[in-house]
Amino acid sequence: MKKIILSLGILLGFLSTLSAWHLGKYGDFRFERMGDSNVWIMHGPAMEPNVENKGFMNNPAFIEGEHGLIVIDPGGNYRVGKKVLEEIEKVSHKPILAVFNTHKHGDHWFANGAVAEKYPKVKIYAHPNMIREAKAGEAEKWYGILERLSHNLEGTKPFTFPAFELRDGQQIAIDGQHFVIYHPQKAHTDTDILIEHEESKTLFLGDNVMKNRLGGFDASSSILGNIELLEGIMKNGNYRLYVPGHGPSGGKEETVGSYLHYLRLLKKWAQKAYDNDEEYYAYKKEAIREMGDLAQWDAFDHQMGKHLGKVYREIEEKDME
Ligand SMILES: [Zn+2]
Repeated sequence: MKKIILSLGILLGFLSTLSAWHLGKYGDFRFERMGDSNVWIMHGPAMEPNVENKGFMNNPAFIEGEHGLIVIDPGGNYRVGKKVLEEIEKVSHKPILAVFNTHKHGDHWFANGAVAEKYPKVKIYAHPNMIREAKAGEAEKWYGILERLSHNLEGTKPFTFPAFELRDGQQIAIDGQHFVIYHPQKAHTDTDILIEHEESKTLFLGDNVMKNRLGGFDASSSILGNIELLEGIMKNGNYRLYVPGHGPSGGKEETVGSYLHYLRLLKKWAQKAYDNDEEYYAYKKEAIREMGDLAQWDAFDHQMGKHLGKVYREIEEKDME
């Protein structure tokens, strides 16, 4: 009997592997429960959007309440959103009550439309800056970027913008689940929220932390601000789980610590170049050497130099103040 139960278990395990979302060479994707909590995450492939990953490379997550679900960053386009919904339904049949969008970049929120289509009463939340900037051109800009890279934007327009605002320090309860919202003025962008889920002691960091891949720092961002934010997180608070915008979730040191290490090394070598009146890239080689394994992260080769230039300009600006 034991043997039969064991083989049944293996068979079921095998079947659930088969039924996951298969994304070519990147493998299978499914929502996984985080420990014994009511938080589920489907960690996307940590890389740039491309044709084979269909523009799916973020970390859609949901919190299961008594009556329904609260989703964080449902994904980068309408079709990905439909897949995300399919995967959610494999582990919970409760309706989606609310969605949080962490910031203005389309790879996190363009799937809102798929959720709203199925749940027309869903409340979609974001920081007021996110809503304003997305409507003022950021959504169109990201539509162009993601269409060019992934060719999978069909159904994404008209955009489903968040309609409900969340501000720094705001506390919000949805379906008995409690959240605290933090808004750094300028870090990954000026539109970000970090979301604390109290019951599970989870901190959703958005793109203020990435792991195994680097992304762009646009004109609304501040690398120095991002460093300051993460230094505060390292010092204060102890969550059970830290969830980056891209890459695996984990403990504080392995998740927040590794990205902070990268940003601090950028700052260190840009500062040295600035102090010595040299070009921003004067110590690029030294910086890469000191970064060690970080140089293996996706997009490192074309992002790291840009980041070095960006933090150099920030240091210069600060010096002029
Ligand atoms: Zn982003």
